[in-house]
Amino acid sequence: MDLYEYQARDLFEQHGVPVLAGMVASTPDEAAKAAEQLGGLVVVKAQVKTGGRGKAGGVKLAHNPEEAKQAAEAILGMDIKGHTVHRVLVASGADIAEEYYFSILLDRSERRYLAMCSTEGGMEIEQLAVERPEALARVPVNPLVGIDEEKAREITAQAGFSPDVAEHVIPAIQRLWDVYKGEDATLVEVNPLVKTADGTIIALDGKVTLDNNAAFRHPDHAGFVDKATEDPLEARAAELGLNYVKLSGEVGVIGNGAGLVMSTLDVVAYAGEQYGVGPANFLDIGGGASAEVMSNGLSVILSDEEVRSVLVNVFGGITSCDEVARGIVGALELLGEEATKPIVVRLDGNSVEEGLAILRQAQHPLVSVIATMDEAAAEAARLAGKGA
Ligand code: GDP
Ligand code: MN
Repeated sequence: MDLYEYQARDLFEQHGVPVLAGMVASTPDEAAKAAEQLGGLVVVKAQVKTGGRGKAGGVKLAHNPEEAKQAAEAILGMDIKGHTVHRVLVASGADIAEEYYFSILLDRSERRYLAMCSTEGGMEIEQLAVERPEALARVPVNPLVGIDEEKAREITAQAGFSPDVAEHVIPAIQRLWDVYKGEDATLVEVNPLVKTADGTIIALDGKVTLDNNAAFRHPDHAGFVDKATEDPLEARAAELGLNYVKLSGEVGVIGNGAGLVMSTLDVVAYAGEQYGVGPANFLDIGGGASAEVMSNGLSVILSDEEVRSVLVNVFGGITSCDEVARGIVGALELLGEEATKPIVVRLDGNSVEEGLAILRQAQHPLVSVIATMDEAAAEAARLAGKGA
């Protein structure tokens, strides 16, 4: 899960990383009030989960509450790289003398962490890495040791900080490591990390990605989930314990096992080319799925307005095809007249005869059974294209 800047700022603060005071506002009046409380120069910043907000006009300085209000008026509702701005962070303005860069990330291929640091922050780091790779220090971090004072010293030395600045950057880096380790993050990035005119080091912008696999260790992280921008179908599927990801196409896809579902998506994408349609979602009902799981999955997919046909592709292993067939029939019974979209079913493997018999007996007008995956995908794509 990626965090908003204001959420990253809060985590930084909890772990003792130096940050400036800030408040979130979702209206221009709230922004004015926040500016009044903070006093003096403030910066109004778009809260979207993408970088380059500064360049897009999503970061504005304001000298008084009235200017903060105007800045918020300009920024709220703005579209930044496809993300609509619903909130701004109003933070105390910093008197920036220098801008640096620092990040810690998971280096999967090397099975360790990587710290990156530069005295040339502010600009986009991808650009710096390409244009002046020598200006970006890349220091491996042993997960068992982490970033202690010695490692932090190595990082600042490689980045080329002068010894007096390094003395102030080192503790900030160690606190950022505490955030990374303590919160089970896979990315902590600060761009810019700044030195102010009076020599203080401050994390002025923060990007944090939390490891969802460690969510069980952090019940408080649930509060970071943004209900407003969460896809409602994904939220409902998550509540039902389904492994569901919404995609942009028209053919709903259900399968068992991530590998089979992935290849089904490929086949649907290929078959859909001539009809201008593609897969609408990823849904893995998993191994040993019951009729109930199948039925829940089907009802989630059928309630997706963009879906025009559904392909159920199950290879029965631990999952038995009769359970899948019962799930299909059960979901259609529950939905009654609400079910209007054609469903193409391809079953094979464990208990396939029993499964097919259940579907035959139900004789549901929306269900057609096709023996092979390619033909089933082609039919589901054709049906979705026809409905266009
Ligand atoms: P990003 O463009 O999405 O990475 O947004 P940032 O939060 O990094 O802000 C972009 C730039 O705005 C920074 O690199 C700074 O130059 C500038 N900026 C941000 N906050 C302040 C501030 O408090 N004071 C001043 N003077 N400039 C700021
Ligand atoms: Mn930034």
